[in-house]
Amino acid sequence: MSDQPEVTLIIGAGLGGVSAAGALRGAGNTGRIVLINGEAELPYDRPPLSKGVIQGSEALEDVYLKPESWYVDNGVELLSNTRVVKIAPDSHQLELADGSTLAYDKLLLASGADVRRIPSLEQDQVPFHYLRDFRDAEALQEGLEAGKHLVLVGAGVIGLEVAASARKIGCEVAVVEIVDRVMARSMPANMSAWLQQQHEDRGVKFFLENSIAEFQQEGGETSLLLSGGERIPVDLMLICAGVIPAVQLAEDCGIECDNGVVVDEHCHTSNEDIYAIGDVASYPDAWAGKQMRSENWMHAQRQAECAALNMNGEASSYADIQSVWTDQYEFKLQMAGILAGEQEVMRGDMSSGSFMIFYLDEGTVVGVLGVNQPKQMRIAQNIIKSRAQADVDMLADSDANLKKATR
Ligand SMILES: Cc1cc2nc3c(=O)[nH]c(=O)nc-3n(C[C@H](O)[C@H](O)[C@H](O)COP(=O)(O)OP(=O)(O)OC[C@H]3O[C@@H](n4cnc5c(N)ncnc54)[C@H](O)[C@@H]3O)c2cc1C
Repeated sequence: MSDQPEVTLIIGAGLGGVSAAGALRGAGNTGRIVLINGEAELPYDRPPLSKGVIQGSEALEDVYLKPESWYVDNGVELLSNTRVVKIAPDSHQLELADGSTLAYDKLLLASGADVRRIPSLEQDQVPFHYLRDFRDAEALQEGLEAGKHLVLVGAGVIGLEVAASARKIGCEVAVVEIVDRVMARSMPANMSAWLQQQHEDRGVKFFLENSIAEFQQEGGETSLLLSGGERIPVDLMLICAGVIPAVQLAEDCGIECDNGVVVDEHCHTSNEDIYAIGDVASYPDAWAGKQMRSENWMHAQRQAECAALNMNGEASSYADIQSVWTDQYEFKLQMAGILAGEQEVMRGDMSSGSFMIFYLDEGTVVGVLGVNQPKQMRIAQNIIKSRAQADVDMLADSDANLKKATR
């Protein structure tokens, strides 16, 4: 194909970068593809870090995205332990940390995100951790021992996954969260309450609308004084205060950034030959009707496929429904679309630990949340995509065939 780039460089070998390299080859690209991996490990998957890896049931080799041979077989040049320090769009070149340069025809930014640090909590008295990469997970796992007091700062998805993993190991777990409910950014209030209850039933203590006011030492023991006045024991802390998109390279070379590298529906940045995907990209979400960033696995993979087609000269628009999962204890929670609407329809019973909630606007399903309902969730996503009028009685009846719940 004449529009194919001769050299494609990909910054970042997380899920987005690796998926894009594979999708380029899948789209028939025969040019040179260089995948620049800022980390030393063979590219690996992040979701297991807060689950199997810190529980000790999965090793690095178990979570590789692809075996080493895949890169060779697909002619993808993997440069590991290599950081890009500068993009020079005018000369179509990248500068690497060792001072060398690489030239490109098309460039993909798949640099993901970095943890948001809270320097005031980084004190010598208490070992503290963040969790973004394999080394973070390894360090955290070493500290998690039965009976140890783990304090999690932030009740977002990663904090709660770690809470569940740490309880499995036998740690005492306390969660300190500044807002008034758990996973407030990603789920409605009734689900926050349900999820908090599951954690409390399994021994996790929550301190909502609280922050850490002071580190206190007494008789060789350290404790944390919370803003609400409670004092809690601590042996180690995990700070889960969200992430910041890794936009520095883009900003430095004048590419438009606004809560991420701004792209259009073709994953195209403000520079003609530079694309961006995954956690770093701010894109127009076709379903939410606004420019936003999504930090989830499915999005990074699907957007990579879209970017690869566009870089390869085939027009493709990204219009996926956002879908996220999280595993906590025996529960698989899945969320797709917009979890808000004029009407909420419950299918099943929350107390059973297996149910779905549909969110409707003007009679059509715009979002769905499922707990331990993976098969039904696939059908539900098709219902959202169909934009068809829903049969509310059938949605609500867990014995009814979901495939027939639209008119
Ligand atoms: C602990 C954890 C658990 C998760 N669990 C879930 C889950 O259960 N479900 C779900 O849907 N999602 C989950 N996610 C989110 C999901 O893993 C991310 O959305 C996904 O990894 C994003 O992929 P990405 O390629 O955009 O970025 P990343 O995976 O962050 O990859 C970016 C890569 O770019 C590299 N890089 C950055 N700058 C440079 C540079 N200058 N030079 C070279 N390399 C560079 C980084 O080092 C990194 O390796 C989880 C994430 C984490 C951290």
